[in-house]
Amino acid sequence: MRRLLLATVCGIAALSFNCAQLVAAQKPSGPANATEWPLHGGDYNEQRYSPLKQVNADNVGKLGLAWFADLSEKGQWQSTPVVVDGRIYVTTPWSKVYAYDAATGKALWKYDPKVPREIAATRLCCNNSNRGVTFYKGKVIWGTLDGRLVAVDARKGSKVWETRTTDIKDDMSITGAPRVGDGLVFIGQGGGEYFQRGYLSAYDADTGKLRWKFYVVPGDPSKGPDHAASDSVMPMAAKTWSGEWWKTGGGGSPWDGIVYDPQTDSVIFGTGNGAPWPAEDRSPGGGDNLFIASIVSLDAKTGQYRWHYQAVPQENFDFDNTSPLTTADLTIDGQKRHVVMQLPKDGVSYVIDAATGKVISAKLVVPYANWLTGFDKENNWKPIINPDSNYGKTRKGWFVTPFQTHVWYPQSFNPQTGLLYVGIRYATFGYVAELGAKMGNQLLGINIAKRPEMGPPPLEGAGQWLTAWDPVTQKEVWRAKDGVANSGTMTTAGNLVFQGTGRSNFTAFRADNGEKLWSMEAGASVQAGSITYQVGATQYVAVVAGAPRAAGGNRLLVYKLGGSVTLPPTPPAAPLVVSAPENFGDAATLEKGQQLWQQNCSLCHEGGRGMGGFPDLRYSALLQSDAAFKAVVIDGVLTENGMLSFAKTLKPQDAESIRAWVTKLANDVRNAPPAPTFGPAGPPQAAPATTPPPAPQTGLHSG
Ligand code: CA
Repeated sequence: MRRLLLATVCGIAALSFNCAQLVAAQKPSGPANATEWPLHGGDYNEQRYSPLKQVNADNVGKLGLAWFADLSEKGQWQSTPVVVDGRIYVTTPWSKVYAYDAATGKALWKYDPKVPREIAATRLCCNNSNRGVTFYKGKVIWGTLDGRLVAVDARKGSKVWETRTTDIKDDMSITGAPRVGDGLVFIGQGGGEYFQRGYLSAYDADTGKLRWKFYVVPGDPSKGPDHAASDSVMPMAAKTWSGEWWKTGGGGSPWDGIVYDPQTDSVIFGTGNGAPWPAEDRSPGGGDNLFIASIVSLDAKTGQYRWHYQAVPQENFDFDNTSPLTTADLTIDGQKRHVVMQLPKDGVSYVIDAATGKVISAKLVVPYANWLTGFDKENNWKPIINPDSNYGKTRKGWFVTPFQTHVWYPQSFNPQTGLLYVGIRYATFGYVAELGAKMGNQLLGINIAKRPEMGPPPLEGAGQWLTAWDPVTQKEVWRAKDGVANSGTMTTAGNLVFQGTGRSNFTAFRADNGEKLWSMEAGASVQAGSITYQVGATQYVAVVAGAPRAAGGNRLLVYKLGGSVTLPPTPPAAPLVVSAPENFGDAATLEKGQQLWQQNCSLCHEGGRGMGGFPDLRYSALLQSDAAFKAVVIDGVLTENGMLSFAKTLKPQDAESIRAWVTKLANDVRNAPPAPTFGPAGPPQAAPATTPPPAPQTGLHSG
């Protein structure tokens, strides 16, 4: 309607005033072509909402597979596809991009930016995933694990420009999707625990040339200003730090949530946790530590500071505030408000005025939290931090609740129902500070093998679910217990919400009441965000299914009404058999091996603690051979599978100590077989609805 009115006004009054200025002032909130999915979050609002409704709540039961593409890369699968001009673009582990005909699945081109695996080995905090591309004027643009932005011709797959966004000597990586707006590409990076200062930077979308850079945390004051867009606010930020924070970097890496807002011509982004993790260790004596764990708004053109809201001052818990951001126009107390919404790891739903940063409301989405005691509403809803939770100061450790409520998994907002759809986890996790403690090369400042003596608090109703949250009333409208924390959502005008569920299902719920309407086996777990688009007369729904050790393989799956393609059957999981040699190594070797195992390996390779999906090494045949074990751990022969070389961290004799320790663990299993905690196809995603709380499945940290 607005476009029609504008066209009429411009037609009549073109001579009396500058119509181009009016059009510019009335910029649409996103690309208007509703049949496509041209940007990471669908449109500029990142609502992941489509007005398409050929597939709807009445007929979604007839949704079937139209085509699929096998994807051979190994690792984590987090990519939201993008669709423009009948082509679909999807990223894979190691930052590759594939293009297909969106209607037929015909392969069009593939681009491999050739991320040096040995460089990646030193700077990957978490995994080798990529969350997707963006599209700008005939170019597909995305980030690489080694810190580059690459733009290729969307039709031909040939490189248009490439630019480095991080210093090659810094251990920083890109897994997030770039965003575009105002002719610029915006990108952050991960790796705050590698002695880094996070930053957001903007590049000319036509040329790749750097336009501005905004540091999240202040640098070494003896070095003077950065000559960056953040210079004007770094003195203010520095007042919130103490000690010699710059020696460990400070962290704050903006590794996922970014939204370009045309209504305010701003870029709004989430910042990561502080590093090292205990606030007392990085900033002794206190301080809020701006701008970690915050939402920050900048002028899109210049990168100049507009506003910030710090969700977690004096952050202690790897509470990245980098979760997805969504803008929307809501009616609150009878007034139209243009807001930005976020529901991050800390368990709070934030609704904030996008122009001013004034918090409209903030509300806990889980039953209980112990990191804060309330909000200071007179002070723009600054949280009141529970002093007992400052475990770096008390040196007593702390089980923080909630934990990893919502990490990077895409959220969606449906303007028809007025609801925000988010996968939620309700859990707790114990932190014990240890000055200088590392995990691999990462300075965490906690001992990851220790838990606080106090024990975990009882959690009523712990588990995970899909929530339909009303951001106006800040109340849950419905909850799907089949839904999970570790999967993105997408919603449509067909009264539908899509999410991955269970071990490897893709599922549709009714958007207004949560009724489960359709579900199909996807062959591997569905964690990434799904999309929908129309080519010709047909609406399609697309999603990536994949996991580090998916028995059935990783695929791009595309559905339509009446689709009848079937997936090949998933081969049965191989049985777990201990094939370790006899125990070996003296007590000192075993002690060293245990210590190194906990520092470097157990996060991925031990049940109940970590990332999930990686092999349980107690059942590994590699234990039989010191040469084979070293070839993997030191030489990195399984790098392509996501097992990186530890040559920078471990010596060959260290690998042998680890092999001795894991051999002992394996023989413990052989002598008293427990139920395996780790299947080769990865842990099930659906947690039982009963206590105890499920172990976090995204990894101890994630950016
Ligand atoms: Ca983190």
